[in-house]
Amino acid sequence: MSQNINAIWKTVLEKIKVKLGENTYETWFSETKLVSLENGLAKIGCKNSYVSSGIDNRYHQLVKTCLEETAECKVEISFTVKPELANRRVKESPSASLFGEDRKPKADLSLVAKKAGLNPKYTFDRFIVGSANRLAHAAAMAVAENPGGAYNPLFVYGGVGLGKTHLLQAIGNFALWNNPSLKVLYSPAEPFVSELIEGIRQQSMLKFREKYRQLDMLILDDIQFISGKESSQEEFFNTFNTLYQSGKQIIVASDRPPSEISKLEDRIKSRLEGGLVADMQSPDFEMRMAILNKKSEEYQYAFPEAAIITIAEEIKSNIRELEGMLMSIAAVVEAEKTPVTVKLVRDILKKTKGALRANVKPDTIVEAVGEQFGVRKEDLIGRGRTAEVAYARQVAMFLMKEMLNIPLTKIASAVRRGDHTTVIHACRKIENALKSDQQLRQKLDDIRLSLQSHASQEETEKSKA
Ligand code: ADP
Ligand code: MG
Repeated sequence: MSQNINAIWKTVLEKIKVKLGENTYETWFSETKLVSLENGLAKIGCKNSYVSSGIDNRYHQLVKTCLEETAECKVEISFTVKPELANRRVKESPSASLFGEDRKPKADLSLVAKKAGLNPKYTFDRFIVGSANRLAHAAAMAVAENPGGAYNPLFVYGGVGLGKTHLLQAIGNFALWNNPSLKVLYSPAEPFVSELIEGIRQQSMLKFREKYRQLDMLILDDIQFISGKESSQEEFFNTFNTLYQSGKQIIVASDRPPSEISKLEDRIKSRLEGGLVADMQSPDFEMRMAILNKKSEEYQYAFPEAAIITIAEEIKSNIRELEGMLMSIAAVVEAEKTPVTVKLVRDILKKTKGALRANVKPDTIVEAVGEQFGVRKEDLIGRGRTAEVAYARQVAMFLMKEMLNIPLTKIASAVRRGDHTTVIHACRKIENALKSDQQLRQKLDDIRLSLQSHASQEETEKSKA
């Protein structure tokens, strides 16, 4: 019978994996077991009560249905905690075999990668896939395996810290590992532009062109940077055409889709839209868990599951922040020689928020919002009544309420409005908009992130002084 129930559970797990996807499956089901199945009662073992109640709340019906299909009888399910199930997880990422242990890149490959402008640590096997980035990841793999032959160009876009640079570099690293003589170049748009300006100034454009036009794979990051820069756009357009016509791969990333990059020539937009355009979104809970689990393995000490969950619940917007949190924790743990606990995590989270409050003033928020929305500060705190100005002002009020622990009347006066009901109205409106407006969510994430880095810089300055 035990052979039998193991086989049944294996089939059930396979079905669940297909239904839920790799990460969700990993989070909830990788360390479960069918303990018994008797008289229509299935007992499912989980490593802890968090997992058992999580499965019970979220996937009870799914498990029941899959079990009934597989066992071919009516089944009721119950759960039991079996701590010995912890750590049975297979520690292999989906793409590990593509860049895995068995085919370690040769030692000098990291040199080749560096010459191509690539950081060898950005690989596919360190990249966690979830619903937020599944399409972009699949496209990236296809391009890496078959440069010039899958999607050309590949255009990836998304907010700060969501993994664009990592994914782009993974393509380059993989392609080089596959074929070290491939001519790959990764560059953010900014150095591309300065090099171009330098080339024009020193009348060495030939050299510039030679460098870019002989490539097999050009990876240009943060292309939004060339918006409004005419000669750069001209040069990029020509480079693009030369490469494209000879079947060379072009990969581009930006913080927004081509159509929304302002002051970008239409002919470039249409070129960029001519291949595959894939977006990357903020990670959901399961993906955040998967990322934290993976990244925390790199530390010498244990991060208890409850601590990981706390982080995943508190930090939602992006992956860079998740990493930042792990690093902050590591710094404290190493300095104070204490174990990682939920309390420690909560304390650090609170401190980060405290630093934010101490170093971010209403004015800082108004400025950051103005910058993100392209609205002048004078208009935000002035009489401006156009729809854009009013909207940006509401966003500013919303963020002040979220981030600063100050009375509503103070928020109102920060944007020179008399009445705290204006603030309440603004917050309600933005909360509603956030439910359906992915772009707004992304913009807010970007602003939060820039304010956080502003706050932590201020904090460092203070500690130096
Ligand atoms: P972006 O270019 O979109 O701003 P990055 O590629 O710089 O974001 O990612 C920020 C950090 O988060 C990097 O350290 C990167 O390795 C990590 N990261 C992003 N996405 C993932 C992912 N899906 N899996 C693992 N790490 C990720
Ligand atoms: Mg980037």
